[in-house]
Amino acid sequence: MICPKCKSTQNKVLDSRSTQSSIRRRRQCESCQFRFTTLEAIKIFDLIITKRKGNREIFDQKKLECGIRKSFNKRNIDEIKINQLLQEIQEQIVQLDCDEISSLELGNIVLYELSKVDEAAFVCYWAMFGNFSTINDFEQLLSNYLQSKKLQTEKS
Ligand SMILES: [Zn+2]
Repeated sequence: MICPKCKSTQNKVLDSRSTQSSIRRRRQCESCQFRFTTLEAIKIFDLIITKRKGNREIFDQKKLECGIRKSFNKRNIDEIKINQLLQEIQEQIVQLDCDEISSLELGNIVLYELSKVDEAAFVCYWAMFGNFSTINDFEQLLSNYLQSKKLQTEKS
């Protein structure tokens, strides 16, 4: 991103907000301190998900949302929470900055974000979609989860 004032390419992101199709970022130029906003289209819609059997499909936000809702079952679903969760997941995927991810990677991102907001939903999502090929994969995820939980507890 180029500063509109001094054309420097060095800038930092002060704030970012994503919608369904774009990310709005508030930036500050590191050389002249000028503040500007950029609107970046999310590439996520071209993202290819590779399945374990080798077939590929285009990332489907609706499908993801549907799966997440299912994992909350019929318990009280907090719409704000769901939207925040979807945005977090989206941000994580955008940050990977790649054209293809495996369904396993995507599943792990979703599980990780779910684990931060709702334990029951995390377990439920895992039971439905956790296509782990080995018990080690699950063990790995679980230890990451417990680790992050430990950090959260230590912080509070
Ligand atoms: Zn500048």
